[in-house]
Amino acid sequence: MIDTHCHIFKEYYSNIDEIITSSDVYMIVAGVDDKSNLEVIELVNKYDKVYGVIGIQPEEVSNMTNNSIKIIEDNIDNPKIVGIGEIGLDYHWDDSNKEKQKEVFRKMLDIASKNNKTVVIHSRDAIKDTYDILKDYKNLKVVLHCYSSSLDMAKEFIKMNVMLGIGGVVTFKNSKKLVEVVKDIPIDNLVLETDSPYLSPEPYRGTTNIPNNIKFVAQKIAQIKNISYEEVIEKTTKNAIKQFDLNI
Ligand SMILES: [Zn+2]
Repeated sequence: MIDTHCHIFKEYYSNIDEIITSSDVYMIVAGVDDKSNLEVIELVNKYDKVYGVIGIQPEEVSNMTNNSIKIIEDNIDNPKIVGIGEIGLDYHWDDSNKEKQKEVFRKMLDIASKNNKTVVIHSRDAIKDTYDILKDYKNLKVVLHCYSSSLDMAKEFIKMNVMLGIGGVVTFKNSKKLVEVVKDIPIDNLVLETDSPYLSPEPYRGTTNIPNNIKFVAQKIAQIKNISYEEVIEKTTKNAIKQFDLNI
């Protein structure tokens, strides 16, 4: 099984080697800024079961330097860098730099287009703008990481070659809206993620998340869709392999 989105970085963990080597989960580690992008490169070169995406996360756009784009472009040909991410728009804490966020988002989408890479999108309180911009990039393969918008929007997105990343939030008691999305959207459009170290699923909510906890997300999806755990693993793994062109 594949955790399609996690941040296994030194900032959060002192036992990265153990987390990775003791797990049977493949992982796609996502960079958010220069420092983490460089850590992603290190990890994918070191561990067979680790793949990576690199990009500038919307909350990090104000920390960008000229070197930021160079790091991404210099490493995009690494066969284990399977996408550009996480990138996108986040108006939740700060919407004073919307224009800058959109500009960087488009720049990242252009790099992905040019290099035929999948994109991993972070969108928070910005789903309409995210959708409008993605409409200009119809050929891209997209993963909407930690999907948190409505069922109606989800239906629009899946018309556009999009996979929805489903993580620990689906196990939370107050996740009615996301449960509805998981119930109605075909399993062919879902991939699993943990977003480690954040968003630990129940029964570990509130603790530091790790890719192994992906199992609780899969269990919950099986329960919601009334299918077997094995079917969830099999189909979502297939979806991830397809969406990221993984060589597994
Ligand atoms: Zn993330």
